[in-house]
Amino acid sequence: MIYDVVIIGGGVTGCCIARTLSKFDLNIALLEKEADIASGTTKANSGVVHAGYASPREYLKRDMCITGNKMYTQAVEELNFSFQRIGSFVVALEDNQIKKLEEERRQGTQDGVPGLEVILDKKKIKYMEPNLTDEVVGVLHAPSAGIVSPYGMTIALAENAAMNGVKFFRNQKVRRIKHQNYTFTIKTKKEEFKAQNIINAAGVYGAKISKLVGLDYFNIMPRKGEYILFDRNAMHLNKILFPTPTKVSKGILVCPTVSGNTFVGPNAQNISDKKDIATTAAGLKEILDGGMNLVPKLPVRSSIRNFAGLRAVPDTYDFIIDNTDVYGFINVVGILSPGLTSCYAIAERVVEFLELLGVNTKVKEDYNPNRPKPERFNEFTKKELDDKIKKDPTWGRIICRCETIPEREILNAIHSPVGATTLDGIKFRCRPGMGRCQGGFCRPRVIEILSRELNISYEEVVKMGEDTNFLVAKTKDVVLNKMRGDIEE
Ligand SMILES: Cc1cc2nc3c(=O)[nH]c(=O)nc-3n(C[C@H](O)[C@H](O)[C@H](O)COP(=O)(O)OP(=O)(O)OC[C@H]3O[C@@H](n4cnc5c(N)ncnc54)[C@H](O)[C@@H]3O)c2cc1C
Repeated sequence: MIYDVVIIGGGVTGCCIARTLSKFDLNIALLEKEADIASGTTKANSGVVHAGYASPREYLKRDMCITGNKMYTQAVEELNFSFQRIGSFVVALEDNQIKKLEEERRQGTQDGVPGLEVILDKKKIKYMEPNLTDEVVGVLHAPSAGIVSPYGMTIALAENAAMNGVKFFRNQKVRRIKHQNYTFTIKTKKEEFKAQNIINAAGVYGAKISKLVGLDYFNIMPRKGEYILFDRNAMHLNKILFPTPTKVSKGILVCPTVSGNTFVGPNAQNISDKKDIATTAAGLKEILDGGMNLVPKLPVRSSIRNFAGLRAVPDTYDFIIDNTDVYGFINVVGILSPGLTSCYAIAERVVEFLELLGVNTKVKEDYNPNRPKPERFNEFTKKELDDKIKKDPTWGRIICRCETIPEREILNAIHSPVGATTLDGIKFRCRPGMGRCQGGFCRPRVIEILSRELNISYEEVVKMGEDTNFLVAKTKDVVLNKMRGDIEE
């Protein structure tokens, strides 16, 4: 079969495009090289839905961010992912920074960012965010900024796209593309796909995919950002806190997550290895020092995880969204920050490009924009829970004690559209392993459930893809084999 559109890359960009296109009468496939969607930059970022005043005015990403932010309201209603419009502060610690905040406010307001306000009343600032340093002299308040679970939203997008007919193929690394008679032949390690149009949304590997069709007009360099995540009970922040920005980055922020944790990060290091997501002692010190400038009482002893993500930085420093010289090949690459915020606006731009290519964009009659809200143990009343457990005892079998996740939520994560097949897939869909013990207690039980439901052995259950299995053999077998070996020797 020849697909109308094949999307390469299952991050937030690819999945949002897939979901947006799923309303049209088209055959669409999404190819992702990893074992799950949201495995690249999309799983490790700040999760901030930016207000949109921060990028330079001449950049496309500013426009996309301002529009994208507004599109979240409808998206949340339809897709039921966690999102909170809590507002952000850009914090001035010196009088001479106020001028910068005033300028951001003026330009942002002109460009349509709602509600921007510079607040100089220290009492009011501290009332709005008591954790902020006493050194604060003023803040730029952006009430439209919010926080989102980046992988939670991406999973919701993918599920809704799949409900509307998009086919998801994971573990399919695109290696070669041939273009002949207006048809692309896409070769992965395992299969061959044919498509009339390709959308390249391959993140840090975007230039590599573009080169497969002979388009070599940009480079993408990874820029690493490290984070420290704190336990949920350690601190409660009301606002997203940014320092006054520098030329390279928005700076090290202190921010709450939709699950109630606090984190500090990211820094910005240009690197060359696109697989390097290791954290470093120097990097962690840098972000702690940076964070403490804003929140001196960061709960350092309650840190539960460090992680890093890679920004896909193009040589233009701006999003590259192009209907290219290769007919039917659209680049959607260099989607650095604020790509998460901008995804809905980016997807609409892709629709415009497809229309120019003559692709049918008539909305199909049976399109359903709604993705049901996943049922959560923690959100039921006691009575509701009792009834649930009576009907289905897996609601009462708690697997993750830190986050109170019952077996039923894990089963639902496995059997949902684009369901979880790995430990991380379960963790990102319903949180076992996200709590204080980081999976120490629940991991063996989740392995057991995955093995049973997917009908694979314990040894075949992986954390996140090839060669990430936790178990290699039964301890007894290893000992016996060793003894046999010793005897034979
Ligand atoms: C430190 C940091 C902080 C950030 N903070 C924010 C923020 O607060 N707000 C915001 O709006 N944005 C933020 N961003 C930016 C945001 O995270 C990105 O814009 C967004 O995640 C990019 O998504 P993507 O889908 O383009 O890329 P990715 O998520 O990287 O997805 C690309 C996908 O393509 C797949 N792929 C690659 N090669 C192939 C191949 N050959 N075959 C098949 N599949 C392939 C990859 O496996 C990957 O899953 C931040 C980024 C970083 C790194």
